[in-house]
Amino acid sequence: MSNTEQPVTNNSDGFDLHKPPQQSLIDTCVHCGFCLSTCPSYRVIGKEMDSPRGRIYLMDAINRGEAPLAEATTQHFDSCLGCLACVTTCPSGVQYDKLISSTRHQVERNQPRSLPDYLLRTLIFNLFPYPKRLRFLLAPLYLYQKSGAQKLIRATGLLKQVFPNLAAMDSVLPEITLNSFRHDLPDVIPAQGKKRYRVGMILGCVQRLFFSPVNEATVRVLTANGCEVVIPKTQGCCAALPEHQGQTKQAQTLARQMIDSFAGTGVEAIIINAAGCGHTLKEYGHILEDDPEYRDKAREFAAQARDAQEFLAAVGLTAQLSPLTDEELTIVYQDACHLLHGQKISVQPRQLLRQIPGVKLREPIDAALCCGSAGVYNLLQPGVADELGQQKVENLLNTGADLIASANPGCSLQIKKHLRLQGKEITLMHPMELLDYSIRGVKLT
Ligand code: SF4
Ligand code: SF4
Repeated sequence: MSNTEQPVTNNSDGFDLHKPPQQSLIDTCVHCGFCLSTCPSYRVIGKEMDSPRGRIYLMDAINRGEAPLAEATTQHFDSCLGCLACVTTCPSGVQYDKLISSTRHQVERNQPRSLPDYLLRTLIFNLFPYPKRLRFLLAPLYLYQKSGAQKLIRATGLLKQVFPNLAAMDSVLPEITLNSFRHDLPDVIPAQGKKRYRVGMILGCVQRLFFSPVNEATVRVLTANGCEVVIPKTQGCCAALPEHQGQTKQAQTLARQMIDSFAGTGVEAIIINAAGCGHTLKEYGHILEDDPEYRDKAREFAAQARDAQEFLAAVGLTAQLSPLTDEELTIVYQDACHLLHGQKISVQPRQLLRQIPGVKLREPIDAALCCGSAGVYNLLQPGVADELGQQKVENLLNTGADLIASANPGCSLQIKKHLRLQGKEITLMHPMELLDYSIRGVKLT
C-alpha cells in the first residue's frame, strides 16, 4: 500500500490544514433556509445547528477561528445523516456533500471521542468492512437467534438500557439462515443466449453475507439479459462505511484494493446493487485524488461503476417478464438516499418495476426523506434514527401497497425493524429479486 496521506498541521482547536471545508463552497450558501424542511435531522431535532444551514454556519465559524472544533460542535456534525437531501433541495447549488465529507475527515483526525463512542466506532470499523471477519460471526449469531437468547434479551429490554448502541445493532440484525453460510458465487458466470456485455459485479459486505439471495438474483437478472458476469474473489469492501465516517486511510486502502481486484478483468461496467456502496464507488476519483499512483485508475473505475438498475434501464431488458401474481400487484418503491440524492437515480428503478406485467406503483409521502438507516447512523444515533424509521414505515404502509421494494441493505434492515416494532407484516424485496422472479416465472405467494 502506498501512503499518500499529506502531512497536516493542527491549528490548535480548529480544523487542520489538510482539506478543511472549502471556504468558497461555504460562501455559496445564501442562508435562505429552503433546505431545512427536507433535512431529516432538523425535522427530528428541530434545532438550527442540526440543519444544513446551521452546520454550514458552524463550519464557517470554525474556519474563521470563531468557534472551536470541540465536542459541543462535533455533535452537530455527527447528527447529520449524510443523506444529501439538502443537496437536491438547495436552489443555490451548495455542495454540502463535499463540505460534510471534509468536515467528517477533520473530526475523525482532530476530535477525540469519548471512551464508549471510541470503542463502538472501533468495533464497527474493524468488523463491518471485512466480510471474512463478519463470516466468523455467523455461527455465534445463528446460535444466538435459534437458541431463543435474542428473543429473551429483547423481551427484557435490559440491553437497551445498559448498551443502547449494542441494542440498536441487535434490533437491525437480519435473520441468519443456513443460506448465509453458503459461499460466494463463481468467478465468471456466462451470459444466457447472445452475449451483449461483460460486466463486473461487487458483492458488498453486509449484502454478501446477510442478503446473498439479492446477489444471486442480480447475477441471474444480468445473465438473463445477455451479460457475462465477472466476480473477482479478491474484492473486499467498497469503502463506503469508512469514507462516510471520515476514516481517511482505511477508505483509501479499501478503495485501492477494490480497484486492484478488477484490474485486467476487461469488464465494460462494474455493477453494484446496494445504493450506499454505489455512491462511494463513483467517488473513488475524489477519495484517491492525492494518490499519484491510483488517481487515474480511480477515475476510470468510478466512470465504470453503475447501479444495477441504472445499468439495466440504460441497456434495456431483453428477457421476457411474466406477472408475479395472478391479480394486480401494488408496489411501493422506497428511494434510498444514496440512489435518489447521491446518484440522482429515481426514474430507472420505477421504469424497470413497471415493465413487470400486473405491477402498479404507489408513491409514499415524504419519499425523499431518509429512513434513518444512513450507513451506521442507526447504530451511532439510535434515537433520531428510530423516529425517522417509524415515520418512513408509516408512510410506506399508508400507500396500501402489497409489497415494499428497497434497493439498499441498510434501508431494508431499518424498515424491517420498524415493521416488526409496529407489528406489521408486509413483504420487502430488492427490485433485482422482483425482476428475477418475473424472469423465472416464480409467483409471489
Ligand atoms: S444550503 Fe442552500 S438551501 Fe440551505 S440555506 Fe444554504 S443556500 Fe439555502
Ligand atoms: S445530509 Fe441530510 S441530514 Fe445532513 S444536513 Fe443534509 S439533509 Fe440534513
